[in-house]
Amino acid sequence: MFTKVLIANRGEIACRIIDTCRRLGVRTVAVHSDVDARARHVQMADEAVSLGGATPAESYLRGGAIIAAAKVTGAQGIHPGYGFLSENPDFVEEVERAGLAFIGPSAHAIRAMGLKDAAKALMVEAGVPVVPGYHGEGQDNLAAEADKIGYPVLIKAVAGGGGKGMRRVDDPAQFAQELEAAQTEAQKAFGNDVVLIEKYVATPRHIEVQVFGDGTKAVHLFERDCSLQRRHQKVIEEAPAPGMTPEMREAMGQAAVRAAEAVGYAGAGTVEFIVDASDGLQADRFYFMEMNTRLQVEHPVTEAITGVDLVEWQLRVASGEGLPAAQEDLSINGHSFEARIYAEDVPAGFLPATGTLQHLRFADGARIDTGVREGDEISPHYDPMIAKLTVHGSDRDTALAQLTRALKDTHIGGTVTNIGFLAALSEHQGFAAGDVDTGLIARDLDSLVKQAAPYSKTRALAAVAALGLHNNTASDFAGVSLWGGVEQTAHFAFGDAEAARVETLSRGRFKVTLPDAAHELACLQGAWNVDGTKTDAKVWCAGGQGAVFWGNTYAFTVPDPLARDADQGAGDGFTRAPMPGLVRVVDVVAGASVQAGDRLLVLEAMKMEHALRAEADGVVAEVMASAGDQVAAGAALVRMDAADD
Ligand code: ADP
Repeated sequence: MFTKVLIANRGEIACRIIDTCRRLGVRTVAVHSDVDARARHVQMADEAVSLGGATPAESYLRGGAIIAAAKVTGAQGIHPGYGFLSENPDFVEEVERAGLAFIGPSAHAIRAMGLKDAAKALMVEAGVPVVPGYHGEGQDNLAAEADKIGYPVLIKAVAGGGGKGMRRVDDPAQFAQELEAAQTEAQKAFGNDVVLIEKYVATPRHIEVQVFGDGTKAVHLFERDCSLQRRHQKVIEEAPAPGMTPEMREAMGQAAVRAAEAVGYAGAGTVEFIVDASDGLQADRFYFMEMNTRLQVEHPVTEAITGVDLVEWQLRVASGEGLPAAQEDLSINGHSFEARIYAEDVPAGFLPATGTLQHLRFADGARIDTGVREGDEISPHYDPMIAKLTVHGSDRDTALAQLTRALKDTHIGGTVTNIGFLAALSEHQGFAAGDVDTGLIARDLDSLVKQAAPYSKTRALAAVAALGLHNNTASDFAGVSLWGGVEQTAHFAFGDAEAARVETLSRGRFKVTLPDAAHELACLQGAWNVDGTKTDAKVWCAGGQGAVFWGNTYAFTVPDPLARDADQGAGDGFTRAPMPGLVRVVDVVAGASVQAGDRLLVLEAMKMEHALRAEADGVVAEVMASAGDQVAAGAALVRMDAADD
């Protein structure tokens, strides 16, 4: 076994690899860009080397600098994770020339599987079924080839990845146009505009097989179903595949092992198949699509059902040990799902988002693979993944129920996320029935992205939080009676701005009056009781942002009273506390006529007295504070009716 390895990656996968290294007593070296200097993977590693820069090209793609870092620190091997340099055969050769071990397959295996057309030709030779279609070199008669295959067809860039350079064509009249679009995209993304044409498989399911080789022999660790996709990108993955029969598993596993052995595969790899599920799963209706010559993002579901640590296996085989298990030693235990949590604006069309993870609470009882901590930034330079959440249950229904629970118990504030969408998906009836295909999400997109409007109970919790009162649980304020009877006005916005009256009844107990409802809230031992019923609602609020986590994430903002005054000048008739403080003096009563500049109250804050004055002539409509009240920033203190001119 190695004594020290360098991890040429960042984020959750770097952290995940470091975890296994630690367990095996292997020391670790992280590399990082300037923006990642304080990232979690750097903190976790024993040593870290700066690569400089921010973009991948300036940092994680600098093969030479990474190899130099390994040499300087005395690492014996380089683990590439996924993405970045993981499938770059030139890098593998450079690593080996430097006398280091590449923890992954050979440059030869990566090249053989690198282009989809060459890989398909190789698979035909190895007796692995491929999708019917055209994968020849000539690119002049593609339309005629498409006619031969029969529509619908799929045009795919041979160098493709991540769904780029891929176009489905249903109508021959559209072929030329779609071909050009695919070629242009492929040229731009991969510098290679060669395409192949495939039959578009009906009711397609994406089922892939995890393989593991020692350079000669290979075993498989069963399948993963990755049919829940949006725009050809995986969203939720599971293992094993629902509805899989022993015959088909056997046939797919053997085909995958043949594929791996055909290229002398070493380490962890994935053979991806597209399955025609128009008639359920049939052992003769799966076709090779491509082989990913690296550890895959969704490998945790395989680890969950097999009990194997795939990174441990990678380290063992790369350091010269044989395959850690024979095929007959491997079996499936239970069922597992993985959901990919992203900083993403789902209603805006799944736009990648950035922001600070001001509040981050992961669910208990789930495996969390993450590269971030509370307070970390989601930077625009890299993939906006926050975490992968993996659950395991004795059967599919149990695991799915665990997935829903874990998503609902994961609370993130400070940036938008796709958690609501993932939770809706986990409750989708077709998905629950195992009725999955790659078109499921697109068909039901509207209902899956629809955001529920907050109930009045949720808004009442937001009102308490907007005033900063949500942390005042009974035990926090033992013996202090100052709070009883204080009434304040809370301002918050779930989209539209609204206000509520919050009366503090006693420590941690509130009555909230909204225009449409009134609720009594009590925070007892950290749990919110709403109208006498204990709930699992959680509330977070800081820096003008907040969220109520209650089956869903209901994010709100707290308008800044100073910004509001600046925006609105004489404004909406409310005089608000510009900062938290103690009301010392109240000069006016309801019904009093005042002139602009008259003193209304005196607020003591930060050891100074601040006079709050009328901004315009008018009549005092309501006084919402009394001398001795402790008020939060933004709390409305006096409401004025403008004078009639
Ligand atoms: P990429 O390498 O760009 O990810 P893949 O070849 O892996 O492309 O295909 C990505 C996804 O596209 C698959 O998971 C599947 O949903 C869909 N797909 C690919 N080939 C076909 C096909 N022949 N018929 C139907 N769907 C397909």
